[in-house]
Amino acid sequence: MTDHPLGVRIPGPAPQLIAIRWECANRHCTSWAVTYDPKIPYHPCREMEGAFIPLVRVGVRAEHRTVERPDNVGRDLVQDVTDRRGRLVMAVETHRDDGYDTTVYAPTATATRDDTDQARERADG
Ligand SMILES: [Zn+2]
Repeated sequence: MTDHPLGVRIPGPAPQLIAIRWECANRHCTSWAVTYDPKIPYHPCREMEGAFIPLVRVGVRAEHRTVERPDNVGRDLVQDVTDRRGRLVMAVETHRDDGYDTTVYAPTATATRDDTDQARERADG
């Protein structure tokens, strides 16, 4: 039985808070964080033109790779994420020894009233 800070008695042993230390995989970026849950923290990385990318656990070898947007932007409302050469980036992959994660910068979906009316007509048959 433990006393919770809010005054509630909790049965069982006191929960353990385990600090997780995070850092940016880019060598010249000094961003870091300490969290007490396994959710991956993100940061606007100065080495990647401010792209919002994940930190990695301290001690894990990792590398961030940008994925250039290959498609025609057209009227899509894409996120303004560019690489050092000014090309639009659609994702950043964080590669580790045991796999990789992808942070996708998806365009904002848009539709007009005509689009929704036509979709509704198609659905009604
Ligand atoms: Zn960084």
